Amino acid sequence: MINSIIKKVIGTGGSSLSILIYHQVFEQWDYLHPDEPTISQFERQMRVIREHFVPLSLSRAMELLQENRLPTNAACITFDDGYLDNLTHAVPILQRMGIPATIFVATDFIGDGIMWNDRILEAVRSSKNDSWDLRNASLGVLDMSSPNSRHLAAKHLIKKIKHLPTKERTQVVEIVEEFAVPCNKQLMMSRKQLQQLDEFNIEVGAHTMSHPILNTLQQTDAKKEIVGSKQILEELLQKPVDFFAYPNGRYTEDFDNTHVDIVRSSGFTGAVATNWGAASSTTDMFRLPRFTPWDKHPSKFLYRLLKNTHNAQ
Ligand SMILES: [Zn+2]
Repeated sequence: MINSIIKKVIGTGGSSLSILIYHQVFEQWDYLHPDEPTISQFERQMRVIREHFVPLSLSRAMELLQENRLPTNAACITFDDGYLDNLTHAVPILQRMGIPATIFVATDFIGDGIMWNDRILEAVRSSKNDSWDLRNASLGVLDMSSPNSRHLAAKHLIKKIKHLPTKERTQVVEIVEEFAVPCNKQLMMSRKQLQQLDEFNIEVGAHTMSHPILNTLQQTDAKKEIVGSKQILEELLQKPVDFFAYPNGRYTEDFDNTHVDIVRSSGFTGAVATNWGAASSTTDMFRLPRFTPWDKHPSKFLYRLLKNTHNAQ
């Protein structure tokens, strides 16, 4: 009832494409990832997609978009980075509901790799200290006495070092890890697990090798990161890898036209950014916007997602 009123008020998305972006799906709410959905929240969101949208694979959506034959309220589900919980927590739900998806993988971390931001988060989680003195790294003294202060400290650290050159960023991560108990969790999918995705109707896309902010790199290094990740995944999966996701993904803050041109000339069919909006037949296929409502309540989720469809680019 509420959902039909929402649809009446907002209208439908017409022939625009909503591409949703996820990273992880947690078994239970995680204080260090408060905005990421739990399994049950993700399931409710996918029910909204199933009932009010037409879920498509990115390849199919691109074909229909270019032919101007996109169904009303078309949607694609995407995940960035290649987390293992995509396979264990999200894929069973997607399977049950017949929803295809694309997972963008940063190839350096396949298997037992841990991305720099997760190294910080896991250090924060495991530390036995009540505060961290990081004045030597010009990062102040951080309060670690409660889950909330730990969450704020992790956010502060990640924001401060996100755009540093890789070498300097790694140095800070190593300083931070001196406060940590070593983490041996498997966070990312293994080679074998990535190979299994095909049977679940999940496409794999490239997301660079080491997940750098492309704007911080020399052009030759950016090209190596983009082309390298495509080649590694194609060799692993024995099939073409047609889509690319820009790390961090904001045009022009994190990547610019140089990188769009590299992706375009490297044999990809399309690429996704993290700028909000919906795609239309006039959108540059190599700068597709993505948007996921943050609302936990299904009606609010639907409202914001439908509203976003009017922001076609
Ligand atoms: Zn990413």
